[in-house]
Amino acid sequence: MKKTAFIITAFIILFVLSAQVCMAEDVYKDTLRVGLSYGASAKETATFYSNDDIAVYDVNTGGGIAYISAGTPITLTATGGIVASDQFYYYTDVVRLESIGTIFYNHKEYRGAFEVRNNGDLFRVINIVDTDDYLASLLGREMSVTWPLEALKAQAVCARNYAFTIGGKHSSYGFDICAEQHCQVYGGVSSEAESTRRAVEETEGILVTYKDKVVPLYYFSCDGGYTEDSENVWVSAEGYLRGKKDIYENPEYATLYNWTKTFTKEEIENILLSRGVEIGELKDVVIEEVSDNKGVIKLTFYGDMGEKSITKSSVRSYLSLNSNAFTIEKHTLGEEVEEEIELPPVYVLSGSGMVEVSEPGYIMTSEGLYEIPYEEEAPVDEDVSYVAYTFHGHGWGHLVGMSQWGAYSMAMLGLNYRDILSFYFTDIEFVDNKPDVAEEFVTDDEEVIEEWVEYEEETEAESDGAVTDDNIQWSDTGI
Ligand SMILES: [Zn+2]
Repeated sequence: MKKTAFIITAFIILFVLSAQVCMAEDVYKDTLRVGLSYGASAKETATFYSNDDIAVYDVNTGGGIAYISAGTPITLTATGGIVASDQFYYYTDVVRLESIGTIFYNHKEYRGAFEVRNNGDLFRVINIVDTDDYLASLLGREMSVTWPLEALKAQAVCARNYAFTIGGKHSSYGFDICAEQHCQVYGGVSSEAESTRRAVEETEGILVTYKDKVVPLYYFSCDGGYTEDSENVWVSAEGYLRGKKDIYENPEYATLYNWTKTFTKEEIENILLSRGVEIGELKDVVIEEVSDNKGVIKLTFYGDMGEKSITKSSVRSYLSLNSNAFTIEKHTLGEEVEEEIELPPVYVLSGSGMVEVSEPGYIMTSEGLYEIPYEEEAPVDEDVSYVAYTFHGHGWGHLVGMSQWGAYSMAMLGLNYRDILSFYFTDIEFVDNKPDVAEEFVTDDEEVIEEWVEYEEETEAESDGAVTDDNIQWSDTGI
């Protein structure tokens, strides 16, 4: 009777928990398929070895092909449409390598298994890795193992959300996510540390939702004062990706909080020509549209034979700038162009006398907060010929979502990962989506524990005879 009551209670607990997690259930994956070599980085050969034995399987049939002893390298060659090897003779186009130990590929150490597929006599190499192992490695590359724990935890949640919502980006290649900056940087075991493992463990299963949907949490290095609305950088306006003044990011920590970059007229002309844009002699570069968050939305190059406008994220990529948040200082002939030019200080009269303010910025007046208007660009003057342009900018990255240096600054102030994410993402909620909620059931009631152990033993006994090593069918075509 007690047991029945306990099982009912357990079911109720599970039901309540599953009701909370059901919205995220369809996206949560215990393992991820990470593309290491594909497309332009596809390989003709691939060498693996492990500190433990490696079992090789045919992915098409599930049958075993070969067993490679610890420390023995196995070289695979993509030829004649199959995966050939110096360690076995077998006919298949896709193999899976598994080991209890870690596996080295290209002399880099990885956890999990590998899938190697011959596609046009080049290999696609995919690392099939436990989600938590993937995240623990990623944190060491996307941030640093020495960063404060709460910043690492915020990054862990961002990366988990991002990995589960990236959907379809690489599905034609047969994996979820690539290991480069295109998706998220992942480097295997070498970038793991105790700090990154702890950050992953302490946020295990946590996903972030906006309007009951798990959403991609974008991040970048540093914002230099303001984050940006999604539609001002990309296309659609997302309610949780709203730009804001960053009151936390500390310039003393942040790399590239302020930056300058100077181009001569000829350098810009060459950039335009290299992109097939011919507008003749460059006469001016004009900021046409600026967002409420100080980001440049539209930039136009005026030449004597035409003009070229670029918008949103192309503004940054076109000129290889650190961010879209900049003003332009223009230099005329005879004027000396310096690499680092300080903007003149701006003073306002306040209740406490004359004070210096940064521009663009805000000042407090008797009628409340007043924004110092952005200085309008003068119309193109045909008689003036600029010889160089200095971009005075703030921040590094696309500026949408979480600033990593901002997260660092907030963690240094003692704020936690939920504070960090709730600041950078608007109106979000946290969902606890731990993969195995039953094991997380914690109580100090001895009777309940006893019942629980009995229940678990029974369940285990029932599941005896399920998949074991004995079920593996070793192919007799292996050597
Ligand atoms: Zn990618």
